[in-house]
Amino acid sequence: MFEKVLIANRGEIALRIHRACREMGIQTVAVHSTADSDAMHVRLANETVCIGPPPSKDSYLNSQAILSAARIAGVDAIHPGVGFLSENAAFAEMVEEHGYVFIGPTPDHIRLMGDKIAAKEAIQELGLSVVPGSDGPVDSDEQAKRIADEIGYPVLVKAASGGGGKGMKVAETSDVLPGVLSHCRNEAMASFGDDSVYIEKYLGHPRHIEVQILGDGGGKVLYFGERDCSIQRRHQKVIEEAPSPVLDIATRTAIGKRVSEAVGKINYRGAGTIEFLYEDGDFHFIEMNTRLQVEHPVSEMISGIDLVREQIRIAAGEPLLLEQSDIVLKGHAIECRVVAEHPETFAPSPGTVTDYHAPGGFGVRVDSALYSGYAVPPHYDSLVSKLIVHADSREECVMRLRRALDEYVIGGIETTIPLHQRLLMEQDFLNGDYDIHWLEAKLGF
Ligand code: ADP
Repeated sequence: MFEKVLIANRGEIALRIHRACREMGIQTVAVHSTADSDAMHVRLANETVCIGPPPSKDSYLNSQAILSAARIAGVDAIHPGVGFLSENAAFAEMVEEHGYVFIGPTPDHIRLMGDKIAAKEAIQELGLSVVPGSDGPVDSDEQAKRIADEIGYPVLVKAASGGGGKGMKVAETSDVLPGVLSHCRNEAMASFGDDSVYIEKYLGHPRHIEVQILGDGGGKVLYFGERDCSIQRRHQKVIEEAPSPVLDIATRTAIGKRVSEAVGKINYRGAGTIEFLYEDGDFHFIEMNTRLQVEHPVSEMISGIDLVREQIRIAAGEPLLLEQSDIVLKGHAIECRVVAEHPETFAPSPGTVTDYHAPGGFGVRVDSALYSGYAVPPHYDSLVSKLIVHADSREECVMRLRRALDEYVIGGIETTIPLHQRLLMEQDFLNGDYDIHWLEAKLGF
């Protein structure tokens, strides 16, 4: 097993990885920007290295600085966390070339799934169905119009290298399609340095359902049931739950098996998530994330398995001791993403946390790097806490979550706690009757 791991990330996810390492007897090295000198992941790590100024491109995205930190600290492996360099195949390659273990999949698998067009083709060949759309990139307005006419409007234009909802826009009619195409190309070029786009049918009432897997790199792939992440705003997840309120056991098992068989064929290594849109009883693949997922805790709560520990064990070359029959899903878990934004206008609200009291008690987990006196910097993602609750049934889970949200005090900055409190009173949510468009319809924007 590794003796020392460098965590190339910040905030709650860096802390999450630190915790798994410490429980495995592994020393941790935190890297941080000058804006994060007082961050909790830096305070708790065994060693720390400052890697640059606040902008991500100069610090958390600066592979050279991270590799220098790895050299200085003498680590065995690097965990990339979520976001930043976690899905950057060139970084994974550099890590390996410098003699460290990359805690994640092979660079080839990251590259394959990072190109959403190639990923869709590969997944189709592996036997799963995809959202109807263009075969490959769309090169001209004429070609785009022809495809859109075939599949029917509205259509969604998506960036091949897209992520985080960027480079993605709906075209309701053929008149607006050229404008939407050029908007997406520009946004994709600015964000990802790649302006290739493709077209998909824009589904009217799907749920976002994703399957968590772990592969050993030798063809064995375990599935951990699904997460329902349909409560979204601007294509970004707000609440996630496991299991989905709309899948029965037979459907859950069937999709889990199909996914693990497909991913097993490419000898996938490490943690991964296969995302689907689920509409009228059909699963349509949209993308695979070749990393840990923000919402992984809900799967951990219902399976009782620490996914980060398993990631680290696999990367260290230890055999995957778990069998599919060991993965017994129990009860229900819901995660609320608490972000430092105004709960109604969603205006960013960085600043100093003047009071902090996290909820606790039976079945309550808080993954957050906040503390009283901490200044939330304006430079990074606004996620400041994940409140995760587990209970025997969905009804109990909702009651517990309401109780936990009522206890949660984050003073000095605006957060979306009031939004979550409101959503947990909505009859549609209580009935599990929602799709990916529900929240925006409810908010009116
Ligand atoms: P990103 O990688 O940018 O997050 P995804 O392909 O994962 O993009 O899609 C993010 C979200 O966008 C989905 O969860 C869903 O809400 C919405 N979405 C994606 N594809 C479609 C589609 N074809 N029809 C309707 N909504 C879609």
